[in-house]
Amino acid sequence: MKKVVKFGGSSLADSEQFKKAAAIIRAEDSRVYAVPSAPGKRFSGDRKVTDLLLDAYAAAADGKSFDGILGKIEARYKEICEGLGIGDFDLGSDFAEIAGSLKENPKRDFTASRGEYLNGKILARCLGWEFIDAKDVIFFDEDGRFDPEKTNSVLKARLDKTPQAVIPGFYGCAADGSVKTFSRGGSDITGSIVARAANADVYENWTDVSGFMVADPRIVNDPQSIDVITYRELRELSYMGASVLHEEAIFPVRKAGIPINIRNTNDPAAPGTWIVESTAHQPKFTITGIAGKKDFCSVLISKALMNSEIGFYERVANAFADNGISIEHMPSGIDTMTVVVHESEFLEKEQRVISELNRRCHPDNIEIDSDLALIAVVGRGMKNTRGTAGRIFSALAHAHVNVRMIDQGSSELNIIIAVANDDFETAIRAIYDIFVTTQL
Ligand code: ASP
Repeated sequence: MKKVVKFGGSSLADSEQFKKAAAIIRAEDSRVYAVPSAPGKRFSGDRKVTDLLLDAYAAAADGKSFDGILGKIEARYKEICEGLGIGDFDLGSDFAEIAGSLKENPKRDFTASRGEYLNGKILARCLGWEFIDAKDVIFFDEDGRFDPEKTNSVLKARLDKTPQAVIPGFYGCAADGSVKTFSRGGSDITGSIVARAANADVYENWTDVSGFMVADPRIVNDPQSIDVITYRELRELSYMGASVLHEEAIFPVRKAGIPINIRNTNDPAAPGTWIVESTAHQPKFTITGIAGKKDFCSVLISKALMNSEIGFYERVANAFADNGISIEHMPSGIDTMTVVVHESEFLEKEQRVISELNRRCHPDNIEIDSDLALIAVVGRGMKNTRGTAGRIFSALAHAHVNVRMIDQGSSELNIIIAVANDDFETAIRAIYDIFVTTQL
């Protein structure tokens, strides 16, 4: 058994958290490769080290002094090292290098990456493991995109020679040899890349929650957790705003058939959530999860006999695409179709799109509706359960929520419902209650 463990920023925010992470790693011999984030927030209102580094970069790029910010960052690492009993571990030359680069030629990605780099060095020292700089093993191509195959072969060869190692998250090497970061939260991607190259049995992703919840805890009080979720279900939920893991983190491990186990550093005994390719494991409830987003508009286009008109859909889609607006959903009726778009993208171009639609499609009528929220009810169990949609709609009717639109994905993995923005929270609670609370 071989495991790759990734620890998020809150799991390494200070020396106390660091100790918990180290104890988790030491608790199992199978945990052989560790991927740290930079120190995160220690309390609400605190700043992440990555944000402080970006502040230092912004100050330097503006020609302002960054010494105060760098001092704060240095103090955070000093506390970590002293708390871990390795106060003699000297990071002075690393800080001199960061300061030197900020002074002479400030580089955003290099600066932002130092949070992970320093945490990686400390964790390696604390565990007595080898430190592998991500810059030597993770690569981006000429277009700035992550290069999975080059990375996999170089990293695999390196790990084959290194039985235990710490590889910092979040960054790698650009085609010109400079440091380049992934988007924010990108250490999740590094963990996944390392798990694939190591051919690990499990990718453990340690964070500050015990896995995924059936619904957003800010909306539903103390929601149930999800034991097992498939990659496809997760994609649907994260697309609709549920976030625990970086969206791109599933691709490397999914390709290699490695499950991800989301775990809680502050509650290591909790089993967390398993993310798997497919499973015979029956979900606890008919639905796996509910997620949603506010602020959409719908454009209802009516035209008699539209479905016998060749190319009608394409002309509609192009009226949006040519104005740079991405289409979220497109449910259709016999003589009607609805295009759902993000309000923020649509509003300023609204009249241009309408005149394009009139010019290209000659519809009988166009109606716009705004302030809509979309809710996705996701579950692999829905396909084989009768009456799921019926239960959703009767729950919403009982909660006095008017359903403005329905779209069932062809995968039968999700049902998407549009409601007024103001009904969003009520609708999510009603759906949660009918599928979860009443089943407990
Ligand atoms: N430290 C980086 C960030 O805050 C990357 C990560 O934590 O995954 O986005």
